[in-house]
Amino acid sequence: MTKSAGGANEKGNNRHWLGYRAGGLHVEDVPLSAVATAVPTPFYCYSANAIRSAYKSLASALGPSDISICFAVKANSNIAVLGLLSELGCGMDIVSGGELERALAANVPASRIIFSGVGKTRAEIARALEVGIHQINVESAAEISAVAGVARALGKRAPVALRVNPDVDAKTHAKITTATKESKFGIPIGEVADLYAEAKAMPELEVVGLAVHIGSQIQDMSPFRRAFSTMADLVTFMRERGLGVPRLDLGGGIGIASEDDAGPDIAEYAMIIAETVSHLGCEISVEPGRWLVGRAGLLVTELLYLKGMQDGCTAILDVGMNDLMRPALYDARHPVLALHEPRTDQAAPSYTLVGPICESSDKFGAYDGLGELREGDLLAFDCAGAYGASMASTYNSRDLVAEVLVEGGRFRTIRSRQDIRAMLRLEQAGTWQLPALKEREASGIVQRAARPGRR
Ligand code: PLP
Repeated sequence: MTKSAGGANEKGNNRHWLGYRAGGLHVEDVPLSAVATAVPTPFYCYSANAIRSAYKSLASALGPSDISICFAVKANSNIAVLGLLSELGCGMDIVSGGELERALAANVPASRIIFSGVGKTRAEIARALEVGIHQINVESAAEISAVAGVARALGKRAPVALRVNPDVDAKTHAKITTATKESKFGIPIGEVADLYAEAKAMPELEVVGLAVHIGSQIQDMSPFRRAFSTMADLVTFMRERGLGVPRLDLGGGIGIASEDDAGPDIAEYAMIIAETVSHLGCEISVEPGRWLVGRAGLLVTELLYLKGMQDGCTAILDVGMNDLMRPALYDARHPVLALHEPRTDQAAPSYTLVGPICESSDKFGAYDGLGELREGDLLAFDCAGAYGASMASTYNSRDLVAEVLVEGGRFRTIRSRQDIRAMLRLEQAGTWQLPALKEREASGIVQRAARPGRR
């Protein structure tokens, strides 16, 4: 029998794919300990069916209103994940030339890709136009001129939407709030109509509509209502001035459950869209990232050492803030599960989980309910499918973390660990340093680095 390990929120994002069977934590039909035998920790592990089911429930909540869903690639940019979503009909929202290449590599048609972001380079804009991007969301008068200039040089017309800053507080963490007037994102709402009219007068631009994105990990739905109503008023105002607004991009931001919060209800989100903007008759798109993949992934780690501290027991893990940055960056807290089901009939201590990185912010919080832990035990950070692997770095010259996809009873590494050899391949000394280095190598003072091909 499967005992769900799934946590609070079952509102359209259920977790039948995750649970204990015969005392071992399973992702779909695969015991995570079996993955850990084949793939060294730490690694991310995603459930293909959890991602599919999240997409289908959002699509069905948005329902007959024909709203296109464009996955925010920054949340999880692995091409296996992008391909899986694309097969379901999902479009993509990208914020860089690199993300564009990823989406194309995953066979996403350019006609289903929206290019967001506040600082696109001219080279990125050119590539987007060359491949036939669906829409470029522009965020300033300067960017409008840049896009027009690139389009002119290429002899193309660029489809642009203006990203509006509606001055709405998303009531989320300050570092993921994007639509207050202090924020760098979007065009202040009072300037949008004039700029839209100016852009429409440029022959290189096809001005297709407006976009908004108010922030991320939004739990309270009322800021969405405020932002979308503000956008509806703006569209009406602009139409009265003879400015057509055929498309409306409502951005992403739907939060997922946290340990102490059941998480937003997508039926409510869909209703807010229906009540605020559906009467406008615009082509509507949304750009969720976290909601589609956040709860579909875990980060598996091994406990390296236990250390008694004045205020309790600290568990030092082989996963660090370079692998999962959200706790250090946003004070985020991820639920943690033991791979071997803990006994509930024994009192067990609470553990402070920390990583091996030389930074005091390399810590994940205090946890209980994990049972009595021992060195070598395997744990999994839950709800780590979004902004986990895609934010990971090699800080402290640690390997870039691997990613694994599970489907039914199968699993596959979808991104191999990038080890120190791969990193060193990209680095070299200044040519002027080489004679001295060779001399020191010859005298045995320095060892040759572990570079492939150097023996
Ligand atoms: N759209 C834009 C323009 C964004 O900047 C982001 C993330 O910050 C998203 C969509 C996705 O947000 P989320 O993952 O919270 O849905």
